[in-house]
Amino acid sequence: MAMHSFVFPGDIDPEIARIGSLPFMYMRTDEFSQINKESIDILLSLIHCKDGRAIIYTGSGTGAMSAVVENYVSTRSKALVIDGGSFGHRWWELCLYYGAQAVHFEVPFARDIDYGRLEKTIASERPEVLLCQQHETSSGQLFDLGRICEICRRYGVSPVVDVVSSFLAEDLDMDALGIDVCVTSTQKGLNVPPGLSIIFLSSSLEGYPFAHRGYYWDFESNLSNLRRGQTPFSPATILYLQLNARLRQLRSEGGEKANIEAVRHRAEVFRRECARYGWGGAPEVPSSAITAIRTSDTSERHIFKGLIKKYETFIMPGNVPGHYRISHMGLQTDEDLVLLAERIRECEPR
Ligand SMILES: *Cc1c(COP(=O)(O)O)cnc(C)c1O
Repeated sequence: MAMHSFVFPGDIDPEIARIGSLPFMYMRTDEFSQINKESIDILLSLIHCKDGRAIIYTGSGTGAMSAVVENYVSTRSKALVIDGGSFGHRWWELCLYYGAQAVHFEVPFARDIDYGRLEKTIASERPEVLLCQQHETSSGQLFDLGRICEICRRYGVSPVVDVVSSFLAEDLDMDALGIDVCVTSTQKGLNVPPGLSIIFLSSSLEGYPFAHRGYYWDFESNLSNLRRGQTPFSPATILYLQLNARLRQLRSEGGEKANIEAVRHRAEVFRRECARYGWGGAPEVPSSAITAIRTSDTSERHIFKGLIKKYETFIMPGNVPGHYRISHMGLQTDEDLVLLAERIRECEPR
């Protein structure tokens, strides 16, 4: 593999990638149903959502976020949205789009939440549901779900968490935290190509009267098809097969803990190099999912273009000139990371 990808999903295991070129089954079969059900069981165990339910959709993570607002948030009288960057802002836009009443709780970019102020806002606004990210991918900031969920518990607020970029990269136990709904997708921690998203519903939502405001994403029709392992519409069959193979691999390689440890190790190795080259730009509490760096490349994206041209290597430009983000979700060795830092330095204008 000549190409090196430090974006999402990053370099994919060749065994998983190969499935994309093989003949695939017809989806209206018992065999497909079995695979779908097994994937859901493994997913629920990786996120610690015992007796919960999960829906795998063909569609990206934003589709699943939209599904949550249509089916669930819209049944609640008021939401509070934590907006600390582009993904928090997406929750806010979704609430506006669907006319859900919502309070906008802004958090400065790349900073942690002021949890005292959050509690005061919840105490005075009394929302019924809280929407947040575990990891705000636009800055690399990790929020403290323990503290957020503790406040939610005290005020009877239902927590809904976008874990798209933290699932399998950060510790996450839905049941212990008391999270009602989580959203993720295949192209980040799962390291499968983009195209599928997953919604987790905790056992506390068993029998919940979900709304019907989106035909394609309707929870009830998806859940009722799932009882026989099926989907209401054509699933992206190959991606379901790749997801299943990846989940079996994760299960046999030590589950979520081993993966989280591997991601953390990559982040540590790369951050040592960043310190050596003097790149700051880290958020207040960095997640190991990505490393955010600030370089002197503030005008022409020399680093981004140079890495592609010279080395067929991708990293993610940040929202602010000179800032870049490097994902640690894909396959990468210590040597890859040391070499990447060397090449970034080589392309950095000085
Ligand atoms: C990537 C991401 C999403 C989903 O983006 P899609 O492009 O729709 O898959 C949502 N939330 C967070 C935090 C993300 O990092």
